[in-house]
Amino acid sequence: MSAGQTMFPRMLSPMRVGTHTLRNRIIMGSMHTRLEHEDRADQRQRAFYGARAAGGTALIITGGFSPNAAGMIEPGGPVMDANSDLAPHRAVVDEIHRHGGKILMQILHSGRYAKHDDVVGVSNIRSPINPRTPRPLTDAEIEQTIDDYVTAALQARKAGYDGVEIMGSEGYLINQFTAARTNNRTDQWGGSAENRQRFPVEIVRRVRGAAGPDLLLMYRISALDLVEGGSTAAEIDRLAAAVEAAGADILNTGIGWHEARVPTIAFSVPRAAFAFAVKRLKNAISIPVVASNRVNMPELAEQLLAEGSCDFVSMARPMLADPDFVRKAAQGRPDDINTCIACNQACLDFIFSDRTATCLVNPLAGREIEFDPALPANPKRIAVVGSGPAGMATAATAAARGHEVTLFEEQTELGGQIHLARRVPGKTEFNEMLRYFSRQIERNEVDVRLGTRATADLLAAEGFDHIVIATGILPRHPDIEGIDHPSVLRYIDVLLDRVSVGRRVAIIGAGGIGYDVAEFLTHDHSTEDPVEHFLKEYGVDPTIATPGGLREPQPSRSPREVTLFQRRPSRPGKGLGVSTGWILRNRLLGRGAGAVAGVTYEKIDDEGLHYSVDGERKVFAADNVVICAGQLPDKALEQELRSRGIAATTIGGADHAEELDALRAIQQGVRLAYDL
Ligand code: NAP
Ligand code: SF4
Repeated sequence: MSAGQTMFPRMLSPMRVGTHTLRNRIIMGSMHTRLEHEDRADQRQRAFYGARAAGGTALIITGGFSPNAAGMIEPGGPVMDANSDLAPHRAVVDEIHRHGGKILMQILHSGRYAKHDDVVGVSNIRSPINPRTPRPLTDAEIEQTIDDYVTAALQARKAGYDGVEIMGSEGYLINQFTAARTNNRTDQWGGSAENRQRFPVEIVRRVRGAAGPDLLLMYRISALDLVEGGSTAAEIDRLAAAVEAAGADILNTGIGWHEARVPTIAFSVPRAAFAFAVKRLKNAISIPVVASNRVNMPELAEQLLAEGSCDFVSMARPMLADPDFVRKAAQGRPDDINTCIACNQACLDFIFSDRTATCLVNPLAGREIEFDPALPANPKRIAVVGSGPAGMATAATAAARGHEVTLFEEQTELGGQIHLARRVPGKTEFNEMLRYFSRQIERNEVDVRLGTRATADLLAAEGFDHIVIATGILPRHPDIEGIDHPSVLRYIDVLLDRVSVGRRVAIIGAGGIGYDVAEFLTHDHSTEDPVEHFLKEYGVDPTIATPGGLREPQPSRSPREVTLFQRRPSRPGKGLGVSTGWILRNRLLGRGAGAVAGVTYEKIDDEGLHYSVDGERKVFAADNVVICAGQLPDKALEQELRSRGIAATTIGGADHAEELDALRAIQQGVRLAYDL
């Protein structure tokens, strides 16, 4: 038995599903990547999915393909119909099979979520997240849509896929049928639960009938809708039993519609917070059940399998973060897994802004063909100065590629700004980033010099071939009268608990760090189990006795009164991540925190923060004023080296402080390490 099999016996054991055997219990869940919009799209998709199969994933599910034009998520979105060219599909499928994996094509009809002009739905009830009003499908169109699912499944089989996943969660067309929230029809497709569930059950029945027993048929059910008027546990169990009877081999699960106001996958969701909904469902049916949502490490997957919550674990973002997740676990090296930190910054936020998904911690994701794996013929001696995300990523990657790397860090530990991020409630996943890069630095034998300030003299004396400056940022100290008043605190000291903070707090600056500090200061440090705390705060009913599994939220009480200030007149928090900003803003609102825009700062004194808005003078009586007014690049070393005529490359915050961000820092670092 290998080390990995001893550590993760259930996760690594094969299981029979329908007429297929899956080699272990890890599934790469479906994720829309937008790779199809890039140049050399076919090559990119083959490399992207192929890397995940080569890394040991048992089953891969593609992004959604619509069964017809109306179901497309956006104009030009992927469709699988009778006219589709199957050659690019075959290339991907063959690559997966070559690596011993299996692959399903997901069939997804967007319904009222579609971002194009011919939006159809079950009814004309508009989604709160789409300005377009859907046109209700006629009875004949519903029949035709079911036929289109069958055609898509048969085409998928012709292309070599092992099967299909029928996407029935997240609020897309199938969910719009199943929930009373969106289905007000009075014909055979609306009214009773049986009628509302007829559409998905008919799809599964007809696909199975047309494709025969060999097609691996997965149905993705919404195990918890998290919207008013959503399904109850009894309705969900009824649907699960009906799709099993209609011919589904395996049930995948989804949590929450896209329009739900409860976060489901962001960093603020505790790991495996929704496992209860999957476990409940597993007890209701006999076919295998797949868990998803906020499972990002093999230890947790093993635990869920061992406690009988599920038969498989599906991960989408963790597979972007590390294509070799399963292989590393199987080799007994879970510490070498590059862990998804649930930030959404380079995956979902990119997709929502019409960019192609990649990953903050793994810039190769979706860009595999842009990185030449061949190792450099002439390895160099490289100095990296600074060990924040940019420096650590550069040092680890360059050393893994054969260079001799020395990493200088002025502090006594590696990590730089990661130590601040990981202190923010809900951002503890940054610990994994620190663990991963530290481990790679150790594994690839980087010469780490802690507590060492790298001066131009020191660097010149050692005669490096290349110097990389990743010295990061210096927090901006704004020019406001009274800025040196004793009540004024630096955000670094606050986050590192170096100072005590009073009850009434003004925060100057409402950017990413201002919001992080507000979250930190208003967090209720109760000792309650984090999952229970989360479910209470967001009003999630773990019994799902209520429609959508919602009940009255119980927002936690803030220990402080906090207000954020900014000079710009725009909405505070506007620059936060698309898929996470609303969570931060709503949480703070629930805790009574305020935000004031369009201010002019007057002064800070014993009374507090004096400011004016539209010419009207005001005072915020603050015990403390915390400065989160952005950053300046730390260019001291760059200037010192330049004055001595020593060449160097500057990356991360030291390059562009206004974009101080792990996303940019790691991307720059890894790309540079490949170019050296
Ligand atoms: P930021 O997002 O650029 O915000 C800086 C804030 O300081 C702004 O609210 C700005 O507002 C204010 N400001 C700038 N100059 C000022 C001055 N001279 N006097 C007073 N106020 C001033 O910078 P950050 O908060 O330091 O964050 C840095 C980076 O980290 C950003 O790229 C951010 O995206 C990223 N980050 C993101 C998150 C997240 O999304 N959750 C968390 C942490 C960090 P006005 O100019 O309008 O006053
Ligand atoms: Fe995970 Fe963030 Fe990477 Fe997305 S960008 S896969 S959330 S680490």
